[in-house]
Amino acid sequence: MRVMEVEFLEEKADSLRFILRESYPAFANALRRGMLADVPVMAIEDVIFLENNSVMYDEILAHRLGLIPLKTDLDAYVPREECDCKSDLGCAKCTASFVLEAEATDRTITVYSSDLKAATETAATSDKIPIVKLAPGQKVRLEAYSRLGRGSEHAKWQAASVAAYRYMPKVTLRAENLSNPGDVIKCCPTRVYASDATRKIFVRNELDCILCNACVEQAVPSDQKKAPPIEIKGDETTFLFQVESTGALPPRRILREAGSILSKKAEAMTALVEAEQKQ
Ligand SMILES: [Zn+2]
Repeated sequence: MRVMEVEFLEEKADSLRFILRESYPAFANALRRGMLADVPVMAIEDVIFLENNSVMYDEILAHRLGLIPLKTDLDAYVPREECDCKSDLGCAKCTASFVLEAEATDRTITVYSSDLKAATETAATSDKIPIVKLAPGQKVRLEAYSRLGRGSEHAKWQAASVAAYRYMPKVTLRAENLSNPGDVIKCCPTRVYASDATRKIFVRNELDCILCNACVEQAVPSDQKKAPPIEIKGDETTFLFQVESTGALPPRRILREAGSILSKKAEAMTALVEAEQKQ
């Protein structure tokens, strides 16, 4: 069996680029789907309105609150369905609560995610998300309760805003058979090719190739009988991943969780098969 390898190319607070080697499309896709649909994060699910005479209906305001990404401490909370409290509004183990109180007196104000005050350390990933505008005399007072959920249930629980991959590009350039290097350099949207004092064309960064084949169409061979000047192929065992987080979890954690969820599913499947054999 091939041994999988992971190489991180670039890791930032909210994005991650990595290469998955010696794998296959089904696994890469399972990992991608896991990151989008299965990794649990916090989002507001229940809102109790004490007062709301703003222009927005309670339901719309609640929906907007639900879509605010929340910093998630995955080790501190359990999913509500697994919690022993069995309560509708949850307990401290499965729920983080917030209050929001805002009133416009003499001028119009905008209520931002920073006005959402948490009882615990859970907070919005950004302070600058507008929730509603209030005109003088308008007031909003509410309690909000967040819980863990998954992207497969509702997009507000999606940990990754982007989880995508493409095949690792393999660019074969036969410069000696290319009659129009200048056109090829110009036509590439991601500037894979470049030239310098000694070479009319060379592959500057193969990884930037998006497999669009624009260069292959543009290239004119000097000799039709020889091998084509440019060939682009995608390596179906190597995947270039791009993951972006909503800020709820670090991207590395999203990847790790997706992997461990996949492995738990496989274990559960094995246990089911074993139980079936014993009968
Ligand atoms: Zn609970």
